Amino acid sequence: MIGMTVLFNNYGRRPVQLVKGKGTEVWDQHNKRYLDFTSGIAVLSLGHCHPMLIEALQKQSEQLWHVSNLFESAEQEALAKKLVANTHLSHALFCNSGAEANEAAIKLARKHSGRHHVITFEKSFHGRTYATMAATGQDKVKEGFGPLLGKFTTIPFNDCEALKAVADESIGAIMLEVIQGEGGVNAVTPEFANTIQEVCDEYQILLIIDEVQTGIVRTGTPYAFQQTTLKPDIISLAKGLGGGFPIGAVLATAAFYDTFGPGSHGTTFGGNPLAIAVATAVIDHVFKPAFMAQVQQQSTYFKQALQQQLPERYQVVGQGLLLGIDCGEPIAASYVKKAEENGLLLVQAGPNVIRLLPPLTVSQSEINEAVTILKGILT
Ligand SMILES: *Cc1c(COP(=O)(O)O)cnc(C)c1O
Repeated sequence: MIGMTVLFNNYGRRPVQLVKGKGTEVWDQHNKRYLDFTSGIAVLSLGHCHPMLIEALQKQSEQLWHVSNLFESAEQEALAKKLVANTHLSHALFCNSGAEANEAAIKLARKHSGRHHVITFEKSFHGRTYATMAATGQDKVKEGFGPLLGKFTTIPFNDCEALKAVADESIGAIMLEVIQGEGGVNAVTPEFANTIQEVCDEYQILLIIDEVQTGIVRTGTPYAFQQTTLKPDIISLAKGLGGGFPIGAVLATAAFYDTFGPGSHGTTFGGNPLAIAVATAVIDHVFKPAFMAQVQQQSTYFKQALQQQLPERYQVVGQGLLLGIDCGEPIAASYVKKAEENGLLLVQAGPNVIRLLPPLTVSQSEINEAVTILKGILT
């Protein structure tokens, strides 16, 4: 343990320093090995130090590191095309993080609709900037930072009546996660998805889906909304997109092309050549049908193993490789700590839920190893 007195204390860091990684495995400063079922919080799509990503980054680093967005970019064009392929979405812009992607999505929705009232949901998480913090449905994120940006109204998740009660033509957008990642691995119900789409259609409300955690095959399909009846106008991406290299993106339908005209929005680093090179290598790999089928297979295998081996009081939730174990009481933190002692890295999702986010490349034997550790702790 080091006394990190020069750094702010805003993370409540664990006293472990990870110094080396390969695939799902990581090692700390004492050479203790762990299975990383956090993936840096859903970031390392292909695990640690994947040879393909190393190659993509090395190659680009010898060619061009940075160029201003004032110049055309064939590489950004090509990646944007891959991201919108096989969807109803048609345009992309790149940024550097999830909060930035959501910030841009909110700006885009406000400017396009001419309305500024946005509906979000309890237990949601959308980021730490002023707009995304206001959008987030968790009080602990906002404490001490007021006055907050208007106007966001947070209503209960999966509550059709609550949504119908607030929806009208003054609402600019509804913003949601298909599976709330930070808030407890809570999935949108089919009924709620239908109601959202109905009120959006009825009152011309824009639908923003935050796919920062659920996107890029984390839930088994390129985007989680593709497993629902939802048809978002705008989606935001980050985390898994760069496989460990910082990058975010906003995708929107053709209707929005003119809303962000020259000078309306931008960022110096967004879509930096290094980030685009790595993200392109990630997408080329994870959007392959065979790869997605394998993620779904591992998910089914993992879920079944947990259901069979853990005591019945634990509920397995989530989709793809965004899974959770709902403990039914606020004890997730102590289990996460015990797992770490036993060589398995996990994160919480709210006080009750242990989140399981292995790299999408996780093997069955690694899943078996994790299940054995979890069984030992939870039984
Ligand atoms: C992590 C996360 C964000 C914020 O992303 P940052 O890159 O940390 O700014 C936003 N929305 C969701 C759903 C997230 O999981």
